[in-house]
Amino acid sequence: MKPHNAMYIAGQWTPAATPDTLPVVNPADEQVIAHVPAGTAADVDAAVRAARAALRGWAATPQADRAARIAAVRDGLAARKDEIAGTVAAELGAPLPFAEAVHAGLPIAVAGSYAELAAAYPFEEKVGNSTVYAEPVGVVGAITPWNYPLHQIVAKVAPALAAGCAVVLKPAEDTPLTAQLFAEVVHEAGVPAGVFNLVTGRGPVAGQALAEHDGVDLVSFTGSTAVGRKIGAIAGAAVKRVALELGGKSANVILESADLARAVHVGVANVMANSGQTCSAWTRMLVHTSRYDEAVDLAARAAAKYGDRIGPVVSARQRDRVRGYILQGIEEGARLVAGGPEAPGERGYYVSPTVFADVTPDMTIAQEEIFGPVLTLLRYEDEDEAETIANGTAYGLAGAVWAGDDGEAEAFARRLDTGQVDINGGAFNPLAPFGGYKQSGVGRELGRHGLAEYLQTKSLQF
Ligand code: NAD
Repeated sequence: MKPHNAMYIAGQWTPAATPDTLPVVNPADEQVIAHVPAGTAADVDAAVRAARAALRGWAATPQADRAARIAAVRDGLAARKDEIAGTVAAELGAPLPFAEAVHAGLPIAVAGSYAELAAAYPFEEKVGNSTVYAEPVGVVGAITPWNYPLHQIVAKVAPALAAGCAVVLKPAEDTPLTAQLFAEVVHEAGVPAGVFNLVTGRGPVAGQALAEHDGVDLVSFTGSTAVGRKIGAIAGAAVKRVALELGGKSANVILESADLARAVHVGVANVMANSGQTCSAWTRMLVHTSRYDEAVDLAARAAAKYGDRIGPVVSARQRDRVRGYILQGIEEGARLVAGGPEAPGERGYYVSPTVFADVTPDMTIAQEEIFGPVLTLLRYEDEDEAETIANGTAYGLAGAVWAGDDGEAEAFARRLDTGQVDINGGAFNPLAPFGGYKQSGVGRELGRHGLAEYLQTKSLQF
């Protein structure tokens, strides 16, 4: 796609209020590939006004017609799948096969699921002598991160449109081109002007202006817990709705009866996917002491095989942050069994797939989200200890449990303080609610739970 030196506001590519721009860098070779406008409060204000002006008309549009527009967005994404993969590969550094399968494939599936839900959702129900209406919450300010750039946009915009809301999107600084491509698709799909608007720019400027804007009724944020806390405070002060999808430090609990080789193999793949930049990644592998050494050996060998198959991390800042954690792990006494802090190549923001053994629950690398290709292995003596370790971080986003049979794994999964658990490598389900317990967030995305986030209820008594 050709980058736009403009914002998408009220159905048109509109020049920004100031000439300031942001560079977009390809993390694989460190070359600047484009510049996009750095929006300010004035651009945000124009976009929110456009959204407010479009809101009533869109909310009153029959749900079948809204569903048809979302289906057209899905079709538009599918028609431009290769271009999406190429754009995400260029600005995130994702290897092309992964970009095609996941960065393009996943949002197409999610948009499709919302085309169906928009058509079928019960926006009206009878409760005794009342009629209860589920009405759109209003104008949504959507703030998204770079790690799954299109998925995170679609996971907010599709349910918001299904609910009858209008949206202003502020995507991450590092991946604005994917957002521009999405705006083109929305435009071509015939979504009415002002229902979807895009403002690119810096988080503390454009993002904050969006969160603070009086014309925004709900802020839906995905990103770090540190920024999520700020967004929550802004929303709390204004008594506006907020949804927060934040970080994670998820546990992959391998019980004694599990198929160890498979659990370790899938567990390592889960952490290395997207170069470790996945909020739900199972970054702590918990193994029974009787099988711990075997698991360490399997994990080290599996990680070494990833050497040239993972892409870079998104930026120099992110690479330095990940390396800092690897150095801290070594300093705190964890045993490095694969990878390490040295850069594998001269160009690009690469980090070696890294595995640490002899990690204890109190270490920094077992507590903080690293957001890079770094796996930690912890040992436990019995299931009570496994539960304590698994639940012993500030986060609670995802996780995995492996056992000889699904029933045993399920029983253990119910003991975990986390929003989503994969049982014996369960397949991804785009209809399953996704979101965190504890400091991993507030609210859910995907499926009908994700749609409900964009609704408020009104009851009429007869
Ligand atoms: P980030 O919090 O720095 O940025 C996320 C978004 O918020 C970006 O668009 C950014 O511009 C904006 N932002 C930054 N400061 C802001 C401010 N003061 N006010 C308003 N907006 C602001 O996070 P990141 O580095 O882009 O993404 C990585 C983090 O996101 C990781 O911690 C990861 O776990 C988390 N994440 C969570 C999920 C989830 O679904 N739970 C998904 C992906 C990423």
